[in-house]
Amino acid sequence: MKISKALIIFIVLVGTFISLPKQGSAESGDVYEVGDIVLNVRSEPSSTGPVIGKLHKGDQVIAFNEHYGWLQTYYDGEEAWVAAHYLTKENQENPISKSEPQELEVTGQSVYIRSGPSTDFAIVGSATIGDTYSTVETEADWYKIKLHDGSTGWIASWLTDKSIKADASKEKTGKKAGTVAEEVKGVSTSSPLDGYNIVIDAGHGGKDPGAIGLNGTEEKTVNSQTASEVAKVLSAKGATVIQTRSKDTFLSLDRRAEISNTYNTDAFISIHYNAFPVQSVQGIGTYYSSLNKDHALAEDIQNKLSGSLPLYNRGLFQEEFRVLRKNNAPAILLELGFLTNPGDYATIQTTGYHHQVAEAIADGLINYFH
Ligand SMILES: [Zn+2]
Repeated sequence: MKISKALIIFIVLVGTFISLPKQGSAESGDVYEVGDIVLNVRSEPSSTGPVIGKLHKGDQVIAFNEHYGWLQTYYDGEEAWVAAHYLTKENQENPISKSEPQELEVTGQSVYIRSGPSTDFAIVGSATIGDTYSTVETEADWYKIKLHDGSTGWIASWLTDKSIKADASKEKTGKKAGTVAEEVKGVSTSSPLDGYNIVIDAGHGGKDPGAIGLNGTEEKTVNSQTASEVAKVLSAKGATVIQTRSKDTFLSLDRRAEISNTYNTDAFISIHYNAFPVQSVQGIGTYYSSLNKDHALAEDIQNKLSGSLPLYNRGLFQEEFRVLRKNNAPAILLELGFLTNPGDYATIQTTGYHHQVAEAIADGLINYFH
């Protein structure tokens, strides 16, 4: 009696392991769409896990992992899980019919069209906000579109919207968690940065707090404060500013570079603050990767920062940071002070500091471009 019962349990367990998908079988980055249901988003891969949000029909999620029928994504920057059962994998079960092309509208300011479905492919054209195209096919995050001269090219799906054409009065759907690049269009009469596309990258975010400073201050939060002030000031001077993140969301370094490479970017600036175990270490520094591509931009910005900010000038550094190395545009990373140094920390806490940083970056860019 005891033996047969144990055997049955054993068989049931083995059967469970065979029939359910194994952990990690979802390809990282696969896009799924929510079916006709209000779907709970949970903080754990279990139907008893705490509910942290809800998704609706047509919402899209990017899966980073799979765990026995649950897909891991990010929701408001936090790791989150949804039941795979209610999701349909994009481009697989729902292929776009080649005989019924769908209309899409470009939502990015200045977007490259490429010869293939990734930023590794050659640029074959460009599109601006409001342009409309019809899709021919899709692959991963990219749409193949019919160009006005009859040829075809590929465009990043996250810089387009299909729902605008379908029903203009309906709220936009299909926003992808964690991959939305925000844009700010400049409106100003005095516009020394008019016509330039600047990508501002607030370092870290979501599950990645970055450096931890005095009083437990998280770097990601300070980065966001500075980045939004920089975006405001650059926009006022005529620049088209693209922020890799405008919320507290997690983005990989590759995704940040990819966003920059999708636009016709003139300069990429990553905003960071530093920390060090020795409290006396202080000051600001500017990092570049390529001597040919990045150094001139780094020098112009660091000159203006060190000339106008009250913090110690640590100078220029050459460093093989991935977010710079994978960037096609001139790209730099700013370390705007040590959150672990009491003097730097006090200065960084003032709102005036973020504005000073923004003005210095604007002046540096104007020098660099003119
Ligand atoms: Zn950082």
